[in-house]
Formats: sequence, C-alpha cells, structure tokens
Amino acid sequence: MAPHTAPGTAAVELTGVRRRYGKGAGAVHALRGIDLRLAHGSFTAVMGPSGSGKSTFLQCAAGLDRPTEGSVRLGGTEITGLGENALTELRRSRLGFVFQSFNLLPSLTVEQNVLLPLRLAGARPDRRRAAEVLGRVGLADKGARRPGELSGGQQQRVAIARALVTRPDVIFGDEPTGALDTTTAAEVLALLRGAVDRLGATVVMVTHDPVAASYADQVLFLADGALADTLPRSTPERIGARMTALTARTSAGVAA
Ligand code: ADP
Repeated sequence: MAPHTAPGTAAVELTGVRRRYGKGAGAVHALRGIDLRLAHGSFTAVMGPSGSGKSTFLQCAAGLDRPTEGSVRLGGTEITGLGENALTELRRSRLGFVFQSFNLLPSLTVEQNVLLPLRLAGARPDRRRAAEVLGRVGLADKGARRPGELSGGQQQRVAIARALVTRPDVIFGDEPTGALDTTTAAEVLALLRGAVDRLGATVVMVTHDPVAASYADQVLFLADGALADTLPRSTPERIGARMTALTARTSAGVAA
C-alpha cells in the first residue's frame, strides 16, 4: 500500500458526482450522480453503451475533468477542490494511465519513457526501478529501443511499465486493448491482472469488450450517466449478455 494512504481508505471514492455540459434547456447530463468506492488492489471494468458517460466518468475519476457537483477522492485525498498545479502533480505521482493509443514519446527510448513519470514528478530517475518494471512486463531487453521499433502489444506493455513505475494509487485504462489483436490483448490484460494480483495495483478500465471486462473483479455498467448494473467477475458471455440487455433497455427508453 502506498505510504500516503491511511488504512481503510478506498483507492477511488466518488460521492454524488455529476457532470453537466452546457446550461439550461440544451444542457447534457453526462453523469447524473455516481456513488462508488473501489478498494485498493481491485480491478474494475466500466462498460456501457456509447454516450452513457464512460469517458466522462474516467476523466472525472482521474482528475482530468472536474465534476459539476460531488466529490472525488483518490487514495484518501479529496481532489475536487485542488488547483490545476496540485492536480497535475497528483496525477503524475499517484496515478498511472494506459490509453488505447499507447501515448509513448517516440523520440525517447523505452527506458526513458518508463522513467518519464518519475522525472515529471521530480523524483530520482531510478534506472533499477525502470529495469524492474520492464522485467515485469517481459521487456527486460528492450530498454534501449525506441517505441517505433516495437510491436503494438510491446508498446502497450511499455505503457503498463510506465504506469507502474511510480507505484500509483490507481491505474486508469481507456480501452487499453482497443488497438490490439485478440492474442496480444490477452497478454496485456493478463499483465494488468497480474499487477493487481501480485503487486497490489488498483486498475479501473473503460472497455467495450466483454472479454477485456472478464479479467476484472467487477464490471460496472453505465447507462445514461448513472450506474445501471454491476456484475462480479464473470465470463465474457455473461458480461456480453448483460450489455445487450442494457443496450436494449436504453434504446427502448430513448425510443419511448
Ligand atoms: P461514452 O464514453 O460512454 O461514449 P461520454 O462520456 O463521452 O460517453 O459522453 C456522455 C454524454 O456527454 C454524451 O451525451 C456526450 O454527447 C456528452 N458529452 C461528452 N463530452 C461533451 C462535451 N465536451 N460537450 C458536450 N457534451 C459532451
């Protein structure tokens, strides 16, 4: 557990989180009051139909966007009132991110990419730590390469190493396997699962893929900006069936 985290605090805690875009009659209610607590060492998948609020949820939970109302706590720290600089520092030192498009810096080596969060957070660029996390993702011998010399799956593994390097409170994933083939996606998901099981990492991942969601301890379903359903760890078939039911219900609601 990270030293700045008091025992018993959740890794992620949202209370009454609302996010509205625009005002008046044309306002869009992207999140309509989200309440949840995610424990340290948990792996959560967030699913939902297009437009249900998944991206907005992730942005608000990760301090990249500000809720219109409500509170977000990360590792016990209330982030809703933080200024821009404090928020940026918190993101750099205490959160990890894994995106669909990898977001590695092409001009830096793999090792330099992995060390970047430490540099940006003003910490010592600990090369042994970089070697350790690169070893964990199976890229011990690739530190001197540039991202462009690696396959998509390898690049995403570099991104996971980069996300792990600071021992963050939470790793947020936005469709982390969206650009990968099935086999490579399975490797990346197994790594995230392993980070949770063996390193005690906390992962929150938005995905539309029931197979990806089947690696999580629980699946949260958003519909129309609200938490509509949850499933404990399930098979892709069960998760897919729940998504289909939810989408049917939501479209019926829209049509009505
Ligand atoms: P999802 O990720 O599930 O597709 P989003 O969080 O992107 O859903 O969007 C939720 C709702 O908020 C949608 O109706 C979308 O059109 C709206 N929305 C998202 N971002 C903005 C924005 N910057 N301005 C106005 N409306 C937005």
